[in-house]
Amino acid sequence: MKSESENILKGIGAAPGIAISQAFIYKKEKEEITNESITDIDEALENLDVALEKSKKELRKIFSLAVDKLGEKRAAIFDAQIMILDDPILVSTLQNRIKNEMRIPEYIVNDEISKYTDLMNLSHEPYMKERSHDIEDIKNRIVRNLKKKKWKSKITSDVVVVTSTVSPSDTVLFSRVNVKGYVTDFGGLTSHAAIVARSLNIPAVVGLHDASNRIKEGDLLIIDGFKGEVFVNPDEKQLHYYQKKISQLQKQDTELNKLRELPAKTLDGKEIQLFANLELIDEIELITRNGAKGIGLVRTEQLFEEYEAFPDEEEQYKVYKTIAERIYPETVIIRTFDIGGDKVLPVDLKEPNPFLGWRGIRLLLDSPQLFKSQIRAILRASSHKNLKLMLPMITSISEIKKSKEIINECKEELKKEDFAFDKHMGVGIMVEVPSAAVLIRDFAEEVDFVSIGTNDLIQYILAVDRGNEIVSSLYQEFHPAVVRTLHHIISESKNAGTMVSMCGEMAADPFAVPLLVGLGLDSLSVSASAIPLIKKIIRNLTYKELQSLATECLAFKTEKEINNRMRRFFNEKEKDHIKNLY
Ligand code: PEP
Ligand code: MG
Repeated sequence: MKSESENILKGIGAAPGIAISQAFIYKKEKEEITNESITDIDEALENLDVALEKSKKELRKIFSLAVDKLGEKRAAIFDAQIMILDDPILVSTLQNRIKNEMRIPEYIVNDEISKYTDLMNLSHEPYMKERSHDIEDIKNRIVRNLKKKKWKSKITSDVVVVTSTVSPSDTVLFSRVNVKGYVTDFGGLTSHAAIVARSLNIPAVVGLHDASNRIKEGDLLIIDGFKGEVFVNPDEKQLHYYQKKISQLQKQDTELNKLRELPAKTLDGKEIQLFANLELIDEIELITRNGAKGIGLVRTEQLFEEYEAFPDEEEQYKVYKTIAERIYPETVIIRTFDIGGDKVLPVDLKEPNPFLGWRGIRLLLDSPQLFKSQIRAILRASSHKNLKLMLPMITSISEIKKSKEIINECKEELKKEDFAFDKHMGVGIMVEVPSAAVLIRDFAEEVDFVSIGTNDLIQYILAVDRGNEIVSSLYQEFHPAVVRTLHHIISESKNAGTMVSMCGEMAADPFAVPLLVGLGLDSLSVSASAIPLIKKIIRNLTYKELQSLATECLAFKTEKEINNRMRRFFNEKEKDHIKNLY
């Protein structure tokens, strides 16, 4: 697609997928707020009371709809809004101000709640800014109800909604009329609306700045939620390209769905176990639907994002238990908090080199209380014997030994406290630091399994920051140093009799999978949505040809040679599967 075309608007792809439909410009009516005085205080208080009740009723309706469509966890956004309306301090402040200032309730509500949103908007934290939209939503709802207006949407079915911002409640309500996609001026990947769109599987492009001005009602739009692009009144060529892409995607989906129950087995009978990576608990459904063998990586640090603090042992236990039970009898590997680097930190440390700093296992060993609460929670959730524990960022054998001591301590405690748990729960490590790769034989002998984290391993082997765009061309998964290191890790782990898998993004790259299988990996853990395609690729090849492909690649001296070889192999063998999609 020509990106220089004038009708292409570029934003952030917040929910993947493609939609072609007419634009519906959704402008929230801005309620006029006047500063009128009142004479009848009782009437004003009564009006406030009725409006608060009405708002709660609306939110309860949205909440139950959201529970159906999104599940309890996501729907909690609306429960939280109801709680704000029930907050006695807020309600009494509003009542007192009406009595003392003798102004109309709309004015008081707007003024009082705007204090919070203004403060939140001043924050440098994108999260806070996003949350201010939720509070704004509550304010507008009360004001509208004070004016006794109904929530009305003249929205018709099958349109792409174009708006300045969209609130989570709008997103849920719109989903009832089969909205095809969202285009918004503001918002980022972490906005609740984006999260809700992803959960509902509705393509969305956000952060387009002035889309709601540039797009007119009824314009034909193509939205590409993969790339974050919106085509306004596309020409024939663009339309044709995307219509073809939609039918390819549909065809691919139906075809891949057929593989759900089939094993990821090569033509000559070598079976690869395909596990899924899990970040959010809502992904479990997709994980089971896509036929994963289990979960190869739970990124528990995500819980911090969801709870906005470290969840305590009890909260963690509930989450881990839910995952263990939903995936049972398959296995779930829970990685202990990998905090630091580019991920959340409980305090703002301002480290000069966070990737080389207080990260992963280092932070855990320095914070025994935090570490133990997590180990205890995992152990307590392990009673069905389908959980394993994985340690992040291991660089030395002493870190493994210390961690194992702490795990044993937790077991002793739980035994005394009469908790049931799996006494033989497997313990493994991430191999994502060069020292662990070099010493893999010794490390592997200490643990039950190892999992290669290529996202970090590549950045540390090549000294290329994984998140820095300036050097992104140097971040090469097919660099000979990377390929030979992988070979070393895989073969030495096997020599030690230890299970070896990979959970970094390389495992989900269709071009890399043939090489990884050829290098001897027996299991891969990838995002749930990648499973069907990877399975399809594996089922079309023989292990024998992949072994010789790997041997060939191990002899190359440059990234270019390996890259070219892999692309040529792909074009010869697999081109029908991913034609035009990548
Ligand atoms: C990795 O480093 O490859 C990995 C899976 O861990 P994360 O991306 O969470 O750092
Ligand atoms: Mg990592």
